Amino acid sequence: MIFFSTRNRKERRDFREAIFMGLAPDGGLYHPASKPNMSELFFSLKEEFRKTSGDTLDKRTVSDMELFRRIAREVSYRILGPEIDNPTVERIVKKSFDFTPVHRRLDERLSLLELFHGPTCAFKDFGASFLANAMEELLESRNESAVILVATSGDTGGAVARAFLGKKRIDVVILYPSGRVSYLQEKQLTTLGQNITALEIKGSFDDCQRLVKEAFLDDSLNASLNLTSANSINLGRLIPQSFYYIYSYISDTHSNEGVTFTVPSGNFGNLTAGVLAWEWGLPVEKFIAATNVNDVVPQYLEEGLFKPRPSVETLSNAMDVGNPSNFERLRVIFDDNVDKMRVMLHGERVTDEETLEGMKEFYKNYGILIDPHTAVGYVASNRILKLGKVRDIVILSTAHPGKFGETVEEATGIRPELPENLGSLMEREKKSIPMEPHLKDLRDFLLKHFR
Ligand SMILES: *Cc1c(COP(=O)(O)O)cnc(C)c1O
Repeated sequence: MIFFSTRNRKERRDFREAIFMGLAPDGGLYHPASKPNMSELFFSLKEEFRKTSGDTLDKRTVSDMELFRRIAREVSYRILGPEIDNPTVERIVKKSFDFTPVHRRLDERLSLLELFHGPTCAFKDFGASFLANAMEELLESRNESAVILVATSGDTGGAVARAFLGKKRIDVVILYPSGRVSYLQEKQLTTLGQNITALEIKGSFDDCQRLVKEAFLDDSLNASLNLTSANSINLGRLIPQSFYYIYSYISDTHSNEGVTFTVPSGNFGNLTAGVLAWEWGLPVEKFIAATNVNDVVPQYLEEGLFKPRPSVETLSNAMDVGNPSNFERLRVIFDDNVDKMRVMLHGERVTDEETLEGMKEFYKNYGILIDPHTAVGYVASNRILKLGKVRDIVILSTAHPGKFGETVEEATGIRPELPENLGSLMEREKKSIPMEPHLKDLRDFLLKHFR
């Protein structure tokens, strides 16, 4: 398949070019240029799964892992082929997913799609892992190597670093603002070693981002290194996020018709991936875009005007985004027409007070602790259910509650345990390289180590 820039349909690239370029030269995002119809595939996989799963769970012959990988392969053949051959797709999928989503039914009308069973316990593991393995395969086939530069304010850098750990032909350099990330986040960035280097920048997150941008524009660096990025807007992270929507439809034997997905959203990559799956033929009734008070998209859906503004800090901080980059992709999908978008998307805004209340209520009703991002989704879903218009809602659960222990405890009085993967990081030694926020220092470092 070919991918074009959201800002210029004539700027066309294949998958390899699109993922290594990250952003198009015109500043746009790469987006699929065609919409393969996969409704037959989804339907037949669901039928097949129903047969092999029997009437009860213990009769099942297909494991969650087999099913998820099967879906990932079948979809990838159709999106990445013929550019990437089937055996390569199979290797990428197998290496990327040694974890799966978990579909947990709560009652007749509500279920959770838990996306936090990957190595860093957040849904970003799905996208980061697939991108890392795709890049490794594509570099290997051409005997090339690359250096990935990432600026992080905390959480996202962790998923990227972990996904690229030990990949051949790839070095990852992470820039983070000294003293401005949490203790756990810093451990995630600085304890991996191998091909992952953490630069502790004496400055703000904006300094880190500026340095990365300057490095990409620097001629002497580009002449000697293959510099690339792994931002959340990367097409190679977007595509795999569609897999778990399809998995939810196929593995939930309770439901046949289209369900409603509630997606706790910030940059809107997660939701956009769901909309892609729907474009490819997945039966979906509606997507609920659940945001915290950073609600530019719900506001757009209400008023028809897109008004980006500086972000505000909230308890669901991975969604504190004032100008969601994937909105460009949503505009392309819905022909820049708010009425078309309203048919599939509905926005809900949730305050911090409601988020805390939602965590408490969820625990009372279901005996399960959820993190503040998932709670935003729960509060939004409840409002919709009370209107009585939708039958079946699947809430995407985007992070493990243990990553937000303090907030969970504040809401429920119970401190969730830190997941094992993350707990073991605490004992590891931090290794970072302190650096002033100057391009010259970054350039010298990169040329010295990676030329
Ligand atoms: C990144 C993130 C989100 C927001 O996802 P987008 O794709 O940016 O909309 C929600 N929850 C958690 C836990 C996240 O890390």
